[in-house]
Amino acid sequence: MTQNKKPITYYAKSHPKSGTIEYLESGIWWIRMPLPMALDHINLWLLEDKDSFTIIDTGVCSEESKNVWEKILKEVVKQKKVNRLIVTHCHPDHVGHAAWLTSKLNIPLYMPRTEWLYARMLALDNGPEYMEAFTELFLPTGCPEKILEEIKNFPPLFSQYAEVPPNGIIRIKEGDRITIGDRTWKVIMGYGHSPEHACLVNERDGLFISGDIVLPRITPNIGVYPDQPQAQPLAEYYETLKKFLSLPSDLKVLPSHNEPFLGLHTRIVELIEHHDNRLEKVRETCREPVTAWEITKQLFNNRTLTSHNAVFALPESLAHINELLLRGEIRKYTDNSGFCIYEKN
Ligand SMILES: [Zn+2]
Repeated sequence: MTQNKKPITYYAKSHPKSGTIEYLESGIWWIRMPLPMALDHINLWLLEDKDSFTIIDTGVCSEESKNVWEKILKEVVKQKKVNRLIVTHCHPDHVGHAAWLTSKLNIPLYMPRTEWLYARMLALDNGPEYMEAFTELFLPTGCPEKILEEIKNFPPLFSQYAEVPPNGIIRIKEGDRITIGDRTWKVIMGYGHSPEHACLVNERDGLFISGDIVLPRITPNIGVYPDQPQAQPLAEYYETLKKFLSLPSDLKVLPSHNEPFLGLHTRIVELIEHHDNRLEKVRETCREPVTAWEITKQLFNNRTLTSHNAVFALPESLAHINELLLRGEIRKYTDNSGFCIYEKN
């Protein structure tokens, strides 16, 4: 690749303290919303124009998030109107409080249709079957029974952090333009991390709201989940990253986690290399016949896998395995115990 390999730079002097808001620049406010998980924050954005605000993403559904929002509405939004809520994708840290916020402020929810459908489906799928489906997906991977049993007893991963989103949206899709004040944002879709993730770009002012598609310090989760065991999310993610290389390299990137940065193309190339390296590791592991569990241990450098990290690690491994199956580099068969075995072609 012949991309401009400028180093990544973080141009904001500091980030807001957890649960607070700071003015970033040119009508953009930055909220650091706390999350009750290992990744302890999400960045939410308030886009301000002469007489109103637009909110981007919500945080998870919790008393803590509600308190932060109440404070921000009182101290920053004040008398101005809020015109709309835009939600980038269906994950609970982005959509968790969409129903509460849109109802409280009497505003429409702008969201990609498939993301909204997933968020509704996953929030309503709140019985024991939800986690049972994970254990069915993981059973043939060789995951130890004790871990499977623990996962089966987890509270539903989605609905514990997200309320059911509103029953209607204004759909946003590739190429749409959303005018906020004197600035027009173009919607550009990203795939692989979630079904149909919306990012927003304004080339005039050099701004790119990248959601979870391009993050500077961590890699977005690319996983295979029970809804689609044969999904090819990594192929979709590679395609998205290559598409995003056609965006100007000097955009200021506003990601959902970590800090705003410059160096979009550098980061995209790093993300591509990261997945290339992981695929190489899977290839090496498959020189011998192995299960997905053994591949996961290799991918995560033999770190102790517990039910809490396996529930995210296994979907990531399956994404890389499915990619190599798609490319015809490995094959899959079922052994006498019902485990799926992968081997180099
Ligand atoms: Zn996400």
